Amino acid sequence: MKKKNFKIDGKKQFAYHPEKTCRHCGATLPENSTARREFCPITYDQYGNVRDCKSAYHRINDKPDRDMFAMITANNKALYTRIEYLIEMVGNEVTTNHLDTYQINLIECVNAEKINGIQHWYFIKHVIKTNPFTQIHKIECHDKYTNNGTIA
Ligand SMILES: [Zn+2]
Repeated sequence: MKKKNFKIDGKKQFAYHPEKTCRHCGATLPENSTARREFCPITYDQYGNVRDCKSAYHRINDKPDRDMFAMITANNKALYTRIEYLIEMVGNEVTTNHLDTYQINLIECVNAEKINGIQHWYFIKHVIKTNPFTQIHKIECHDKYTNNGTIA
């Protein structure tokens, strides 16, 4: 494309962006758009339907994250149920075989840390403490993530 040279007076300089297009629909943005504008202005048609490219763009692009978090949450809920079931059936001290039987994969924890040589696996409502010598896993409840409904 041929590049045009404009003689711009002080007023027009900041207002003219020849090749700016909407990030959502690709329409050319109004000539009086500021440099920061990335989407069409919000407009309404004669029936009152809103055309809002910015919201539409974010709605589409935020979706993978929302799906991912929904998936993680669903898995954690399922894990929570299985851990509760394991406690009910076996108790608070279990073997690796028990964990396997109940499909509790320690690596699927939300967070993990080693305290005094004991591995702590944090799940939504439980912490599983693995003794490296005995390979016995102690299950305790915690409210690290759910205290007052907020993530700590
Ligand atoms: Zn647009």
